[in-house]
Amino acid sequence: MTDPTPRNIVIAGGGTAGWMAAAALARFCGPGWRITLVESEEIGTVGVGEATIPMIRLFNQALGIDEAEFLRETHGTWKLGIEFDGWGAPGERYMHAFGVVGRGLGLLPFHPYWLRARAAGRAGPLGNYVLNAVAAKANRFAHVERAADSALPAMPYAFHFDAGLYAAYLRRYAEARGVVRTEGRIEQVERDGENGDVGALVLASGVRVAGELFVDCSGFRGLLIEGALETGFEDWGHWLPCDSALAVPCERAEPLIPYTRATARAAGWQWRIPLQHRTGNGYVFSSAHIGEDEAAATLLANLDGAPQADPRLLKFRTGKRRKAWNRNVVALGLAAGFIEPLESTSIHLIQTGITRLLDFLPAGPVTDVERDAYNRLTDFEIERIRDFVILHYFANCRHDPFWKAQRGMRLPEKLNFRIDMFRSTGRIIRDQDELFDVPGWVQVMIGQGIVPERWHPLADTLDDTQLDQFLSTVAQAYQRDTARLPGHADYLARFCGAPSTLSQSSIA
Ligand code: FAD
Repeated sequence: MTDPTPRNIVIAGGGTAGWMAAAALARFCGPGWRITLVESEEIGTVGVGEATIPMIRLFNQALGIDEAEFLRETHGTWKLGIEFDGWGAPGERYMHAFGVVGRGLGLLPFHPYWLRARAAGRAGPLGNYVLNAVAAKANRFAHVERAADSALPAMPYAFHFDAGLYAAYLRRYAEARGVVRTEGRIEQVERDGENGDVGALVLASGVRVAGELFVDCSGFRGLLIEGALETGFEDWGHWLPCDSALAVPCERAEPLIPYTRATARAAGWQWRIPLQHRTGNGYVFSSAHIGEDEAAATLLANLDGAPQADPRLLKFRTGKRRKAWNRNVVALGLAAGFIEPLESTSIHLIQTGITRLLDFLPAGPVTDVERDAYNRLTDFEIERIRDFVILHYFANCRHDPFWKAQRGMRLPEKLNFRIDMFRSTGRIIRDQDELFDVPGWVQVMIGQGIVPERWHPLADTLDDTQLDQFLSTVAQAYQRDTARLPGHADYLARFCGAPSTLSQSSIA
């Protein structure tokens, strides 16, 4: 009897998505599987995904990647969170840091106590009570599982890295484990005349790459999922109106900060991502509100070092494929959809797409239930991330026409409910498995100026002195623990034997 399991998997595209998929499939599928990746050097990759969230570490760990080697190879740095500059109102800053806010007391999380103290004028900024935010602002970092000598929490972290180098690193990893790379431009996607499934990719050279299961990692083009299968796209441009980005690397500036900076601009925002060898910068903007030349001038006027290239324009459409898995094609990365990089979630979505693909790897011909389950879980995840990103735009106090327009948008129902709930009661209601947790929602709500005037009544059980003591104990402990940590650049140089540019102290 022939084995019906589709063991011949073809990946179309060799950007971050393609090589992450290839590496993971090579790691977890045994020798009985054939994994082929087709890519075209002539077409190239987007290559600007440089900031991540802490879950990337699980991916690297699952692959058995050594962190020091990874940071060395990708010229990476550590990331403790994102600083939002000018998002609530011009001149205001806050941080969405990874990890917990303060610490819980009794039945409650920290923020109801903070809200009560704030209303009485006795609390510092919320960031004073977030370990990662305190460490980030001091440019300090170390691997802290649990802050020494205290019951305080661990310091979760992610990475900034050069996306091109990460893909190259994963390519070496995947090829060493048997993935076959085929160079060439895909000119045609052949479909089975009977069942409509994709059967093979035909390259410009005439080479035909046949398979049973296809992973579309061809980027915004979506060669298989859209070009061949016409799956359809759900456009979210009315909620997230930025449709363009200009990206430019510049010389590395001191100090080497362990966080991403997102600065609001007249018609969007500018990212700043510190790497070992350079700083990545970009202006994400709405082309309806600013021209390319003016956006480029703004970007170039706001770099910390000399630009290393001309700004590169990327056009995008925010939204998702109606089905990420259609017939025998699973779309990953930009081929599956895109939410702008404000919360660094695209590479994470590739990672969870791969995890789901491994979960639902078919044991015979693909069934509708497997596809439906995959698509339902994918939609659940991306829609909640979308709402989290929309929150940053909607709740702003800026005066530019672009920002005023965002305040007037009609929100997705769930997000509207969350904002109402937080504004009126100080509670965050979230769906169990969604990506961003209560601390993330609280930091962004408050940072964007949604500050409830009420809080959970159990926060009133402390008297004023106890409340002051509780808050100052947390803030002082975080300051004390942070002061013991080494500087980010020094620790990085020690940890991964990084280039000589890292040896100088970068503590501000
Ligand atoms: P691509 O990089 O476009 O790769 C597509 C691949 O398909 C290439 O190898 C190409 O050669 C191949 N291909 C296409 N057509 C053909 C053909 N006809 N024949 C053969 N091969 C073909 N994500 C984050 O997580 N963090 C960030 O900070 C971040 N910043 C971003 C900033 C911007 C402005 C943009 C646009 C995206 C950002 N992203 C970020 C998203 C991130 O860049 C992508 O998720 C990631 O790079 C994955 O891209 P990809 O592999 O899907 O597509």
